[in-house]
Amino acid sequence: MGYDMRRTHMCGDLREGHAGEEVALCGWVNTRRDHGGVIFLDLRDRSGLVQLVCNPELSPRAHALAHQARAEYVMACRGEVRLRPPEAVNPALATGKVEVMVRELELLNPAQTPPFEIQEGVTPDESLRLRYRYLDLRRSVMQETLLLRAAVTRTVRSYLDENGFIELETPMLTKSTPEGARDFVVPSRLQPGRFYALPQSPQLFKQLLMVAGFDRYYQVVKCFRDEDLRADRQPEFTQIDMEMSFVDADEVMTTVEGMFSRVFREVRGFEMKTPLPRLTWRRSMELYGDDRPDLRFGMTISELTELFASSESRLFREALGRGESVRGFRLDGVTSPSRKILDELVEFARGLGSAGLIWVVREGDDLRSPLSRHLSEEEKTGIVEGLGLGEGEAGLLLLGTFEETSERLSRLRRHCVERFGMEPRTPWSMVWIVDFPLFEWDEEEGRYKSNHHPFTSPKTEHLDYLEKEPLRVLSDSYDLVINGSEVGGGSIRIHRRDLQERVFRLLGLGEEEAWEKFGFLLEALEYGAPPHGGVAFGLDRLVMLLAGRDNIRDVIAFPKTQSGTDLLTGAPDVLYPQQLGELRLKTI
Ligand code: ASP
Repeated sequence: MGYDMRRTHMCGDLREGHAGEEVALCGWVNTRRDHGGVIFLDLRDRSGLVQLVCNPELSPRAHALAHQARAEYVMACRGEVRLRPPEAVNPALATGKVEVMVRELELLNPAQTPPFEIQEGVTPDESLRLRYRYLDLRRSVMQETLLLRAAVTRTVRSYLDENGFIELETPMLTKSTPEGARDFVVPSRLQPGRFYALPQSPQLFKQLLMVAGFDRYYQVVKCFRDEDLRADRQPEFTQIDMEMSFVDADEVMTTVEGMFSRVFREVRGFEMKTPLPRLTWRRSMELYGDDRPDLRFGMTISELTELFASSESRLFREALGRGESVRGFRLDGVTSPSRKILDELVEFARGLGSAGLIWVVREGDDLRSPLSRHLSEEEKTGIVEGLGLGEGEAGLLLLGTFEETSERLSRLRRHCVERFGMEPRTPWSMVWIVDFPLFEWDEEEGRYKSNHHPFTSPKTEHLDYLEKEPLRVLSDSYDLVINGSEVGGGSIRIHRRDLQERVFRLLGLGEEEAWEKFGFLLEALEYGAPPHGGVAFGLDRLVMLLAGRDNIRDVIAFPKTQSGTDLLTGAPDVLYPQQLGELRLKTI
C-alpha cells in the first residue's frame, strides 16, 4: 500500500476540457479489453465510467497489472487525459470523447467473479440481485434510482424547512397506532410479557407535537405494517410525514402542492399546474368507479339508468326493479372493434363477476349490439348521446349496484388502457380526492371501520347525524393520486375529546378499551389541543413513479421479498434459547 489514492476527479466527469490534465481516479473495473499490446480498462465509479489506456511503453508495471485485472477489481490510477482519435469516439458514453493514458496503476482489492455481470442492459435474476444486493446496487440503473430518491428527499426537506416545518423524530418502540394493518411487535426484556409495537405511522405523536405547540412538523420516517405484500408494498417503508396547526384542508393541500411542484420541477423538469384538480370521493366513484383515478386517460363513466326506466327489455326492467343501475363508458383507442375484441372484453367482465357486458357500436344511424333488437330507438339515441359515441365508436355498459358497477367498470377501464396500449394525454396526472366517507361498514366484523383512521375529523356540518346515519358522514380528508396510484393522504384531525370519544364509540371501542389504548391522546386533547391537520406520502411509491419503475424493491436499497425475507442477511431469523429465555418467550 502506501499508494496515494487521493482522487482528483470522478470517472464519469471527465470531458474534452480535461484533455492534457493529470488526473487520479479510483473505481471498479467494468470491462477489460486486451488488444495485444495495449490494454483498455473501463473504470467505473458512482458518476459513470471512463476508458483507461494501459500501454506497456508508457508503463510496463501498469500494463502488467492491467493484464491481471478482472471485472470488479478495485483499482486506482494516475495519468493524463487525452482526446480519443476520432474513429475511437464513443457517442453512447458521456466520457466517450476522452481516455486516460495510465502512468501508474494500483490494485486496491481484487474481487471474486461476480455471480452476475454488472453491465448496462443486463438484468439478473431478482433473487440473486437481492442476495448480492451490494453488487446489484453497483448497476447504473440502481445508482440512478437511489440518487433520484435522495434528490426527492433533499428537495422535500429544503421546501419544508423554508416553509417553517421542523423536523422532529418520533419513537420506533411504541404503542400500536392503528392504520388498518397488523402491528410488528418487539418483546420487552425488562418487562417480560410486554411488547412494544413498531409504528404503522407517527400519527399520534405528530398530533401530540401539535398539542405541544410546534405548529409545523415533518419527518422522513420508517413505518411498519404487517400485511400481505404486493408489488408496491413492503413491510417497512418510508413516509414523508407532515402535520400543521391552525389550518383547514385547503391550506394543507396548497402547502403540499408547493412541495410537489418543486419535486417534479427539480427531479423531472416537469411544470405542474397548480392548484391541482379536486374531485370529491363520490364524484370520483361516479366518473371513474374508484378513488384513485388515472386522469391521463378518458373513458369517464356515464350513468344511463334513467334512460331505461320504462324499458321494454326484460333485462333492464328486472335490473332496475332490483334497484340496480346501468353505467358504462365509451371505449377509446379503437374504432369499429371486431367481434373478437368485443367478446374478449365480455369474457374479461365475466371474470370480474359480472353477468355480462353489453357492448354497442355506432354504425351510421344504427347501433350494432347483441341487444339491438331489444332496444327502442329512443334508447339507442340515448346511449349514443349519453356515452358520446362517434361513428364506429363502441360503448361498454354494465348492470349492477352502484358499488358493483364501480368496481367492475374501474377495472375494465384499466384493462382497456393496457389492452389497447392507449397513449396517455399527459405524462403526469395529479388529482386530489376529497371528502371521503368517515366510515365504511365491515361486513365480516359487522361493525363500522374508519375509512382513513379514527382520528380523522368528520365535516362539521355532518356532526348532527354522526350517530344517526354514520355512513352518510363525510370527513375532512384528502388523498393525492398520481397517475392512478395513491401516493398519500391525510385529514383534518379531531381536536376535541368529546368528539374523539363519540367516534371511538361508533367504531365499537368501549370506554374502557378506548382509555386503555388511547387514554394519553384523550387526555392531551383536554390540555389545549389546537385545531390541526396533516398528511403523509409514501416515499417509496413516489420514487417508483418518478423513476418509472414498477417494482417497489427497485427503489429501496435493501428491500424484502414478497414473503418478508431479507435474502442478504437472512432475516427474519430464529433466536437462541438463551435470548428466548431472557425475553420469557416460548416458540411453538
Ligand atoms: N397517518 C396517515 C397514514 O399513514 C396519514 C395522515 O393522516 O397523516 O396514512
